[in-house]
Amino acid sequence: MSRFLTWQVGDVRITRVQEFEAPGIGFLLPDATRENLAEIDWIVPFVNEQGDAVGSVHSLIVEVAERRIVVDTCIGNGKDRLPFKLWHQRQGPFLDDLAEAGFPVESIDTVACTHLHTDHVGWNTRLVGGKWVPTFANARTIVTRAEWEHWSASDVGAMKTVIEDSVRPLFDAGRVDLVEPTHQLADGVVFEPTPGHSPGHVAVRIESRGERAVITGDLVHHPAQLARPGWRNHADHDAARADRTRREFMARYADTPTLIIGTHFSGPTAGHVVKDRDAYRLRV
Ligand SMILES: [Zn+2]
Repeated sequence: MSRFLTWQVGDVRITRVQEFEAPGIGFLLPDATRENLAEIDWIVPFVNEQGDAVGSVHSLIVEVAERRIVVDTCIGNGKDRLPFKLWHQRQGPFLDDLAEAGFPVESIDTVACTHLHTDHVGWNTRLVGGKWVPTFANARTIVTRAEWEHWSASDVGAMKTVIEDSVRPLFDAGRVDLVEPTHQLADGVVFEPTPGHSPGHVAVRIESRGERAVITGDLVHHPAQLARPGWRNHADHDAARADRTRREFMARYADTPTLIIGTHFSGPTAGHVVKDRDAYRLRV
């Protein structure tokens, strides 16, 4: 069996290429303790043997007709990302894996960023001759205008670094399109505004032949948040807005045939949102 997960949505194919997965998301979701997770009876595919929540960092490649769209580009190699040791100065085989999955970098025509946080834009660039240059040399990079305007003016040190090594080089190369949060990426593939985690955050909705999938971005980090919508995420820019966005999103797609593909969901990564008492579960 291929180590790359794939899903078919009508005529559209979606492939997961993982950079890595690891336990330890407590810095994002402090309520996601072993004890609290153990109370969620369906959570097993998304925790490790010790019962700790596992998070995945992966790209999702959307193939629609001749188009090849990468949704989010993980953490990247060689980037200064302390204090996050797993993210700092990585030297992983992600681009080899991408090629093995059938997507050499030159075959990608579009890079879509759900938002501009460090674990979503890393492979936008790679280091060549001491300079950060676009990894996907034939691609346009699609970013919402609200997202760029917010983070490019931010004085948060860690975000300044990310913007300088992973986003600004694309502007310098003339490769960015700033768009509205309802932008259409391709036939049947559109951004869905889901602000809160970051100001211009978007999900990506895919519709083909009556079937539908949604890539979450970081509107939700772990499936446990379906059972516990009130769990706050430390990385949410506007916690109240993020909370509302999560609840609206779940209400919108619960008990529908929509496949929900989690940008940080480990294990099976995708499933259907089902109403479960006063909250939800992910049925895989
Ligand atoms: Zn993230």
